[in-house]
Amino acid sequence: MHIVVVGGGVVGMTTAYELNRRGHRVTVLERHGIAGNETSKGNAAQRSYGVVYPWADPAMVMKAIPWLFKKDGPLKLRLPPSMESLRFLFSTLRYARSPGLFGLNKRAMLRLGIHSRERFLALEQELDLHFDGDHRGLLHLASTPDALEGYRQTHKLLNELGIASRLLTPGQVREAEPGMTGNGPLYGALSYDTDGTGDCHLFSVELARACESKGVTVRYNTESEHLIANDHRVTGVAVRNKDGKAETLEADAVVICAGCWSGQLTRPLGLELPIYPVKGYSFTVPLSDPDRAPVSTVHDDNFKVVSTRLGNRLRASGFVELADFNRNIPEARLATIRKSVESRFPGCADLHAAETWTGFRPMTPDGPPIIGYGPRENLFLNTGHGTFGWTLSAGSASVISQLIGGEEPSVCLDAFRPGRFAE
Ligand SMILES: Cc1cc2nc3c(=O)[nH]c(=O)nc-3n(C[C@H](O)[C@H](O)[C@H](O)COP(=O)(O)OP(=O)(O)OC[C@H]3O[C@@H](n4cnc5c(N)ncnc54)[C@H](O)[C@@H]3O)c2cc1C
Repeated sequence: MHIVVVGGGVVGMTTAYELNRRGHRVTVLERHGIAGNETSKGNAAQRSYGVVYPWADPAMVMKAIPWLFKKDGPLKLRLPPSMESLRFLFSTLRYARSPGLFGLNKRAMLRLGIHSRERFLALEQELDLHFDGDHRGLLHLASTPDALEGYRQTHKLLNELGIASRLLTPGQVREAEPGMTGNGPLYGALSYDTDGTGDCHLFSVELARACESKGVTVRYNTESEHLIANDHRVTGVAVRNKDGKAETLEADAVVICAGCWSGQLTRPLGLELPIYPVKGYSFTVPLSDPDRAPVSTVHDDNFKVVSTRLGNRLRASGFVELADFNRNIPEARLATIRKSVESRFPGCADLHAAETWTGFRPMTPDGPPIIGYGPRENLFLNTGHGTFGWTLSAGSASVISQLIGGEEPSVCLDAFRPGRFAE
């Protein structure tokens, strides 16, 4: 079968890898000149299998409103808000109020996270990829007693699902992260012992090369303009190739992995995907004193900033901003991220010399990604991974490939069904 994958981010490349493993002929279409150059480029670098959850959470709503009015608060809304951002916000609120939905979706995402970890470990054994990746755990710091109390509840759920985690005292936190010498408030932490890190962009680039060496065709600088379909099937993709010429590519099946831009391809076939681009920021900087840097990845709940060790670099990332597709990087956002790093890991790097980045999380209003059949029998979707696409990529790629090949998916896909927004 010739399968076309639209999008060469981390989700598209892992999908191509899984399809190739199952013996399919695969072509990836990517409009950039390199893989993983959009949202997969500068993310917080966590493979947080134990932390995946929907944002449409009744408890989160109550916490989030005051964040909007706090100077260093993690949630920002550009004023005046656009219709798209308001629609996303109200839709998220509606899902958050739907009784029982949060718990079901959280469990479904955690199960996908468990499968993703298994698939990452297998992939990393099979391919020799260099992406500053590790599985040395993840720490969620508690900067208030209330935060620690909340982690106790999470710890119970993780136990129930067999995901290894521990509640740590402040002393144990400093033992696990000896570089954490800053004076930020600390009441303890929840340690996700089997979670990991890794540079998602490097991984995507290396995986693209590995896929090409196994026979996958990756067509860079190639825009997928629209799908060509009859009432039952997709027959191909109309593309604008690297020389700017229009071309038709025939396909036996198509998988949409186009992140925030996926809806543009499904809309003409009658499927609206309410994926909203939730903006975030990061910077990456070489370490000047590795002993003062994180060993692995640390989530500072005080500023909602993540600091991650990537080899001899630090990646720090934060903010949830509803500002549509706007690529500016205000100094105030970077200043808050720096403040968090300085309060935890002072002196680890010259933070003003960092390379800065902004990107858009492909968020669904209820939280889970969109994985399953599209509006034609040979059209598949693997998109809308929001804030956990790096973490869930290997698992999502595995289950969509199983579905395409007629196998029983390793994880129940009910929570991820593409048609759920119209129900
Ligand atoms: C600030 C921030 C921090 C984050 N931190 C984490 C984290 O720590 N852990 C985690 O798991 N996730 C994190 N995420 C989320 C994660 O980065 C995304 O979920 C993930 O990168 C999405 O991957 P993707 O392949 O679906 O999308 P993308 O990486 O955006 O890839 C989609 C690709 O499709 C291509 N494309 C789109 N339309 C077309 C077209 N018509 N023709 C050709 N090509 C097309 C694009 O060029 C792009 O390369 C973070 C995101 C942000 C913004």
